[in-house]
Amino acid sequence: MNAERNGTQVRPPADFIRRRIAADVAAGRNAGRVVTRFPPEPNGYLHIGHAKSICLNFGIAREFNGVCHLRMDDTNPITEEQEYIAAIKRDVKWLGYDWGQRFHHASDYFEQMYNYAETLIQRGLAYVCELSPEEWKEYRGVPERPGRESPYRNRPPQENLRLFRRMRAGEFPDGAMVLRAKIDMASPNLHLRDPVLYRIIHSPHPHTGDRWCIYPTYDFAHPIEDSIEGITHSLCTLEFEVHRPLYDWILDQLQIHHPAQIEFARLNLSYTIMSKRRLQELVEGGYVKGWDDPRMPTIAGLRRRGYTPEAIRAFAERVGITKVESMSDIALLEHCIRDDLNRRAPRRLAVLEPLRLVIDNYPEDAVEEFSAVNNPEDHSAGTRPVPFSRELFIERNDFRLDPPKKFHRLAPGREVRLRYACIVRCTDVVRDPKSGDVTEIHCTFDPASRGGSAPDGRRIRGTIHWVSARHAVPIEVRLYDRLFTRPDPLDVEDGKTFLDYLNPDSLRTITAYAEPSLRNTVPPTVYQFERLGYFCADPDSSPERPVFNRTATLRDSWARLEKQAAR
Ligand code: ATP
Ligand code: MG
Repeated sequence: MNAERNGTQVRPPADFIRRRIAADVAAGRNAGRVVTRFPPEPNGYLHIGHAKSICLNFGIAREFNGVCHLRMDDTNPITEEQEYIAAIKRDVKWLGYDWGQRFHHASDYFEQMYNYAETLIQRGLAYVCELSPEEWKEYRGVPERPGRESPYRNRPPQENLRLFRRMRAGEFPDGAMVLRAKIDMASPNLHLRDPVLYRIIHSPHPHTGDRWCIYPTYDFAHPIEDSIEGITHSLCTLEFEVHRPLYDWILDQLQIHHPAQIEFARLNLSYTIMSKRRLQELVEGGYVKGWDDPRMPTIAGLRRRGYTPEAIRAFAERVGITKVESMSDIALLEHCIRDDLNRRAPRRLAVLEPLRLVIDNYPEDAVEEFSAVNNPEDHSAGTRPVPFSRELFIERNDFRLDPPKKFHRLAPGREVRLRYACIVRCTDVVRDPKSGDVTEIHCTFDPASRGGSAPDGRRIRGTIHWVSARHAVPIEVRLYDRLFTRPDPLDVEDGKTFLDYLNPDSLRTITAYAEPSLRNTVPPTVYQFERLGYFCADPDSSPERPVFNRTATLRDSWARLEKQAAR
């Protein structure tokens, strides 16, 4: 399709939107220019669904040598906040995109929108209507039958103009009247049955102050915003498909630059929710600690959890762009972060549930250092020393009194390799006399196995991780699980709400023990704790108490559980 640019091969357009844009460019439409936009309403933090739209709009601009605008769709005066605007900018930048000088507010165009509304009135294409909201709904009717015309529909343009100006001047209370387009009350598309263009809202606006008491509807404002900014392709989610005839009608009647609206399926993700309104409920209800709680599907939450922009962009590419509503599996997102971190995350040793291991034939006060590989996927990352001494912590579940078949880790009488260090044999076990729980295990080590392998070549099947008890740094570890217990939390049973499906175990906080190099970690560094998963330093960390969020387990433990259950 579109071949080479700057000598580099451009990948063939992958989805129907890119194919369409490539065709437009090839046909010389818009003089071959591509201008897209990402237009969030600043009424909450961006979520992973928005990331899909950001990657699409900014990605297309990049691929087609175009530009992408970042526009605050702030036509609703009531819900917007500066905090959200700052968060939106931070998140788009962090994802790796740049809007340059093209940061806009829809509210900057209020005067122009108002003038366009007057134009429609003067041409007899809009009228001031005094039906109450209930009457308006009833007159509009249902798709199968034509609606009824408002008794105000045939007011002369001059009278409409006078009334509209008085609406602007603040002479009427909220809801007293609206401005409606005069289109077709018999259209099977309800959005064309004289839709509302302006309503009275006596409320100051965060950006325009108290300059306005009438505000345009989304349907009227959006095509005009796109047109003013010279957008060529206005990409939006499928629910706007039925609004497209109205988008086109407004621009056709005003005879101004006419972007093409193209719809694609929104991202839905299992075990979470994608609606800002509901996410806000979680924040305000105290169900999570904030918009950036690492359990949230927000970009800020994913960042704090340890997700990388690369992983999120890879995810957006993997889910692709289609016209069919579907639910993406959160396991795919988790796969993308594992894939990325496997390549980059430095390895460290940490023990989440410690069991004390004493090496009886190791001198009391001796300390030695073993050299541990920082990243087997990246040899340039080098090695680091880890201290070793007589008393260690190992993972409690790496020891079994009665090992089942195929358990190759530590058990009475058995040998195991301590990663990077040596081979030990379990000789004795100390148990709590009351509970019978193992509280300590005793081992001997084979001095000839320093470095990890047996000199006589005997086979050691298990390798476990450890930390030196006296050198270990206690760290707080926050273990996260899915936020909801069912794939679609909005698919609720009678009398329930999505809040009833919150996972009560979505956060478990423990004290773990880490090798000393983790003492001074700065967020957002992500490590792989060997054999355990990926863990990211949290901003709550202090030098006295490092805090880590579990970004992801090493493997998809849910898939494993589901497999086991199916057996
Ligand atoms: P929400 O329901 O979460 O509030 P919204 O669509 O109202 O979402 P906006 O701030 O208006 O949120 O959205 C900005 C842009 O992001 C729009 O172009 C919208 O189509 C897109 N978008 C929102 N949610 C998704 C999603 N789940 N998948 C893909 N794109 C999305
Ligand atoms: Mg919205």
